[in-house]
Amino acid sequence: MNICMIGTGYVGLVTGAGLADLGMSVICVDKDEAKIAALQKGVIPIYEPGLEELVARNERKGRLRFTTDLKDGIENAVAVFIAVGTPPKADGSPDLTFVREVAEAVARYMNGYKVVVTKSTVPTGTGKMIADIIRSANQKHDFSVVSNPEFLREGSAVGDFLEPDRIVIGASDARAVEIMKEIYKPLFLRETPFVITDVASSELIKYASNGFLAVKISFINEIARLCELMGANVQDVATGMGLDPRIGPRFLLPGPGFGGSCFPKDTSAAADIARNLGYSFELIEATIRVNAATKARMIEKIQRAVGPLAGRTAAVLGLSFKPETDDIRESPALAVVADLMKRGARVRAFDPAAMENTKAVFPQLAYARDAYDCAAGADFVVLATEWNEFRALDLDALGRALSARVMVDLRNVYDPKEMRAAGWSYTGVGRP
Ligand code: NAD
Repeated sequence: MNICMIGTGYVGLVTGAGLADLGMSVICVDKDEAKIAALQKGVIPIYEPGLEELVARNERKGRLRFTTDLKDGIENAVAVFIAVGTPPKADGSPDLTFVREVAEAVARYMNGYKVVVTKSTVPTGTGKMIADIIRSANQKHDFSVVSNPEFLREGSAVGDFLEPDRIVIGASDARAVEIMKEIYKPLFLRETPFVITDVASSELIKYASNGFLAVKISFINEIARLCELMGANVQDVATGMGLDPRIGPRFLLPGPGFGGSCFPKDTSAAADIARNLGYSFELIEATIRVNAATKARMIEKIQRAVGPLAGRTAAVLGLSFKPETDDIRESPALAVVADLMKRGARVRAFDPAAMENTKAVFPQLAYARDAYDCAAGADFVVLATEWNEFRALDLDALGRALSARVMVDLRNVYDPKEMRAAGWSYTGVGRP
């Protein structure tokens, strides 16, 4: 089956290449000419483990190609996937400009029946908006609008696509459901659970899932704060909680607050959706406040560990919002960098993949070659993102590079007792 994937970012590129791997013939379209030119040369514009091989394999088999030509993509496809960004507006509501642009393009170039599939995270009612835009501009051809939210995680996106927990399909007609089932048939045959529902419920499943995960992270961050106040150990508390199968151990890692392109945006959007319906989604509103407070608390923690920051030099390890990605959108590490600079500290930084993206936001930082180069001449280390290569640092070499053995570990990578025994002044999150 021929598929057009519009938007070739973290979601569109992985999904496009993934669908090609399932045997579909996929045209990926993006309006970013530099991105498409790079992809046509085999250069992957984002850091995502396994993606380069997935793209190369499917290009070689002739099942995947890249273009900026929307007409080419839409005319040649039965299913048109929308995977464009839906960034937050200043008031927290999602900006649907790009989704509207694509709906208009579909109406313009539609040459027969199409299934228009939203992969982008969009508020309830967007499916209807897309249908209205298409219908008002093109009455010649039949079409269906389907919601098919994406749950992949950056850093493990390829595996998440090929072995998803579930496929959610929101549709209002049987023809569209059959086409979606055909597209995902190889996953269906591998016993992936399918949730088939109406468009509005499907759209809400995505916000409800991300909202719940954000609550879970904020909950353990609040517990970590309580632990700090009472001298308890959040890791033991999380282990004790997580063994209850109703709670589960995942997402109980305290840290500097959640970031990334999804949780902050999707919690704001969920709160906004509720407000527009005259309802205050109190739990989500509180989660947004707790996360902001958690992020802001990190600089206080650093200052308590280090003393006055003006004139001191920080070595910040990790800039991406989580390991195994170059994505810095809403990264808590960058919030820490900004707060350090606001208080007069100089910042040396190192990240295995996110330095190029960070340079565009903070050109004034000193960017290092590795963790040890980052520590050279700095007064203290802040471990902000738990990349694997920061888990097994040569702490002696790191300590020698610093002017003093001081570490603020915002990801609880190291063991407080061992660190103290090795002569470090060590501060973690929620641990005595
Ligand atoms: P992204 O910013 O990485 O990519 C979006 C792409 O769309 C960009 O390359 C942009 O140039 C392109 N685009 C915008 N308007 C276009 C148009 N009119 N025609 C063609 N191309 C256009 O975004 P992303 O992280 O891939 O997220 C896309 C959507 O998926 C968002 O709604 C997001 O919330 C959702 N989502 C993201 C993730 C994630 O982990 N990144 C996970 C699940 C869902």
